[in-house]
Amino acid sequence: MFDKILIANRGEIAIRIMRTCKQMGIGTVAVYSEADARNLHMQKADEAVFIGDSQADRSYLVKEKILEVAIKTNCQAIHPGYGFLSENADFCDMVVNEGLTFIGPSSKAIKTMGDKIAAKKLAQKAGVPTVPGHTKAITNLSEAALIAKKIGYPVLLKPAAGGGGKGMRIVYKENEIETNILSCRTETLKAFGDDKIFIEKYILNPRHIEIQVFADNYGNIIYMVERECSIQRRYQKIIEETPSVAVNELLRKKMGESACALAAEAGYANAGTVEYILDSDGNYYFLEMNTRLQVEHPVTEMVTGLDLVELQLEIASGQQLTIKQEDMNYQGWAIEARICADDPSRKFLPSTGMVTRYYQPKGENIRVDSGVNLGSIVGVYYDSLLSKVIAKGNNRKEAINNLTNALNGYHIEGLATNVYYTNAIINHPAFISGKLSTNFIKQHMENKAAKVDPPTQHLHHMALAATLVYHNRQNLVKASLKPMTTHVGGTPRPKNKFYYVVKGEKDVFKLTLTGNLDCENIRDWIIIVDDSKYHVITPEFEFFRRRLKLEIDKQVHRFRLNYRGNFLWGAYCGITRTFEIYTPKEWSLAHFMPKPRKTIEKNRLESPMPGMILDVKVKKGEIVHKGQEVVIIESMKMESGVASPCDATISEVIVKAGQTVETGDVLIKFKK
Ligand code: ADP
Repeated sequence: MFDKILIANRGEIAIRIMRTCKQMGIGTVAVYSEADARNLHMQKADEAVFIGDSQADRSYLVKEKILEVAIKTNCQAIHPGYGFLSENADFCDMVVNEGLTFIGPSSKAIKTMGDKIAAKKLAQKAGVPTVPGHTKAITNLSEAALIAKKIGYPVLLKPAAGGGGKGMRIVYKENEIETNILSCRTETLKAFGDDKIFIEKYILNPRHIEIQVFADNYGNIIYMVERECSIQRRYQKIIEETPSVAVNELLRKKMGESACALAAEAGYANAGTVEYILDSDGNYYFLEMNTRLQVEHPVTEMVTGLDLVELQLEIASGQQLTIKQEDMNYQGWAIEARICADDPSRKFLPSTGMVTRYYQPKGENIRVDSGVNLGSIVGVYYDSLLSKVIAKGNNRKEAINNLTNALNGYHIEGLATNVYYTNAIINHPAFISGKLSTNFIKQHMENKAAKVDPPTQHLHHMALAATLVYHNRQNLVKASLKPMTTHVGGTPRPKNKFYYVVKGEKDVFKLTLTGNLDCENIRDWIIIVDDSKYHVITPEFEFFRRRLKLEIDKQVHRFRLNYRGNFLWGAYCGITRTFEIYTPKEWSLAHFMPKPRKTIEKNRLESPMPGMILDVKVKKGEIVHKGQEVVIIESMKMESGVASPCDATISEVIVKAGQTVETGDVLIKFKK
């Protein structure tokens, strides 16, 4: 086994790899850029070496620099993690040529799988089902139209060099193919420096199912229980689980054996993931093979009890796989949510800043792989993944409940995240019933919330949690005032019944709180919300925090709360609400009904995120329309267009290309 390895990555995956190294007694060297100078991954390593500027192409992507550090620090191997150089065949060659070990497959396997056309051909050779289509790059438009017609619309145009869903185009009709090919080519060339594209059938509402394989250098190959990653936004996975409700024992075996056949054909070694799409008739088709550890590998570890990084290290150091296919077992269900610095209330624009409060969930069936903690700085330079929360249960329902509870307790301040959004997904009735497809988000989510109304019981829980916090704060205030008031007469009889009205943005609830007077500081309550009765036990001290744990009808529930006067903001099970709390003089709810808000229009366009201005598409005096893209900003590896909020004439352009901006900086002013 190696004595010391270099980890050519950052954030949660670098820390994850270090954890296993520590357990195995392997020393670790981290590399870090300027932006990561105080961040978690470099603190957790045995040694950390600075490699350059914040931009990845001046640090984490500079092969020579990373290799030089590995040699200087006497590392025997390099683990590339995922992203960055993990699927870079040249880097793999350079590492091997220096006599070091690349913890991953051979550069030949990386190269083949990195070209989607070559990979598809190899899959066909190995007898693995592939999506009907054409396994050659398109050379001209008329040929493309003919091929598409033969395949049958809708078709999908795909970059051969693809990744992250970039450049892909769905074409529904013949008269749309020409423009789509042109735009796909341009985007592909820009993203990958290669404009090869190919065509395949677009499978409607498929599931994304993938198989983890491991191969050693002696011809042994095993597959593991499948992962389902159908919940994606813009082809980026958000929620992953194992096993899949759509896969039975027979299909699992077929998909697994196909994956192993492909790995064998490719002469593959180390960890790989074979991705398939599964149509509604149970047919599966090969998509691609990822030649590295996947972001979602922890769900597999949770149900198999294996450490996939340990397996990678063993194989890379020349050991044989000790697990046989017939020994491969799994137990229970695991689901992962990716926590990203994306702001759902602002169309998922990246959010940056310092983490000013950080509490991550913990518990027996909960695992958190995090790249940040209190004080971490999240900048615009790298992708937005902050951490991953994985929950396990004996079955899917239990896993969903455990993950819900974990997400209810997650607390990050300083920047916006998708914590509540992921919670809204896993609490959606369609998710709960297992009806998943890669179009789930489009079909079931809008902006930051689910398209369905939340269950009444969830709203009741939120209303009663908010009320209890309000009630106890009122009591604390009263108690603190007591010594100041002169005491007249005897001690007043303690009250144990209280009435409140809770007004949300859309809903109004009537609450009656009856406390059990036997305990000092009432902690045991019967609470009636509208017509439903709940038995609630409150903890002693949590009211002072921004998180609240309540036992409601013998189950523990966690809430995020924030209060100001009689306004309480709460988040629970993916629902966020602002409540106003009243002590009613009368029970007429009509009195409390919410009034619609007025929107105010501004005569200027502000930057919705921090980043760098790439392009300003308009000039002073130009007439623009509402929704027209006027400025392009780059942030966290993503280009985002900023649209005009109104029909107007531009009176002033404040920014220019190359300039960096903060959220709220004025970009453009309009004449009204
Ligand atoms: P990338 O490497 O860019 O991520 P993939 O080939 O892995 O591209 O595809 C990404 C996602 O696109 C898949 O998870 C699936 O949701 C969708 N997809 C890919 N090919 C097809 C297809 N032929 N039909 C329908 N959806 C597809």
